[in-house]
Amino acid sequence: MIEMSEVSKIYPNGVSAINGITVKINKGEFVYVVGPSGAGKSTFIKMMYREEKPTTGSITVNGIQLSKLRNTKVPLFRRNLGVVFQDFKLLPTLTVFENVAFAMEVVEEHPKDIKKRVMEVLDLVGLKHKARMVPTELSGGEQQRVSIARSIVNSPQVVIADEPTGNLDPETSWEIMNILEEINNRGTTIVMATHNRDIVNNLKRRVIAIDNGRIVRDEQRGEYGYEY
Ligand code: ADP
Ligand code: ADP
Repeated sequence: MIEMSEVSKIYPNGVSAINGITVKINKGEFVYVVGPSGAGKSTFIKMMYREEKPTTGSITVNGIQLSKLRNTKVPLFRRNLGVVFQDFKLLPTLTVFENVAFAMEVVEEHPKDIKKRVMEVLDLVGLKHKARMVPTELSGGEQQRVSIARSIVNSPQVVIADEPTGNLDPETSWEIMNILEEINNRGTTIVMATHNRDIVNNLKRRVIAIDNGRIVRDEQRGEYGYEY
């Protein structure tokens, strides 16, 4: 599903963010990426959806070798990925429905199919009744649920989440985790960078720990393991 081989990333300013990572993430897995601030977690996952390119090494996602992916094919590639951010990144002038539908409209789906599918995913995240609202009318947790609905509307094989609970209180964070679990139970691979020790230690899944741009730990049903 996701394979990295000898991947390194040096930013143009000379910062060495990733230093030789080889890893394989299989279909259907739920993976936490943990590590201190500046360890390279964001860079690691940004390379998975080709927001950043590695300096050396190779990355394969959904059978596509990213170094061979032409820029014009990147939007097509991303359709098979869902991405969820800490700060939601919803379009403020669009309604909840439109925010989610947008990802399908760019794929030129039939309007009737769009309506059906958007209401289906809004139902899954418990927000069908707020379809007509705009993001500012929603709580942080609700906005994150919209962004999750948007990420899965095109039925991607992988959802990549960068600190999805980073701006949310503990209770709301657990609601978000329940939704991500449900999505994973339906077969979607989930890769999630997080600083949430409680979640990692209670909802036991594979843990990839990164420090100084290297994988320092990779355990099935692992622990958060850091003191900060
Ligand atoms: P984390 O997500 O674990 O906090 P990052 O991947 O964001 O770590 O950062 C790893 C290192 O790379 C840090 O030293 C950070 O300052 C640096 N870095 C991240 N993004 C950039 C960038 N666009 N340009 C230069 N350096 C960067
Ligand atoms: P966060 O702490 O919220 O994870 P990031 O480390 O991801 O923040 O950085 C936020 C943005 O700033 C990203 O787009 C990242 O690429 C960029 N960035 C991070 N560190 C540097 C750096 N040292 N030089 C230039 N850009 C950076």
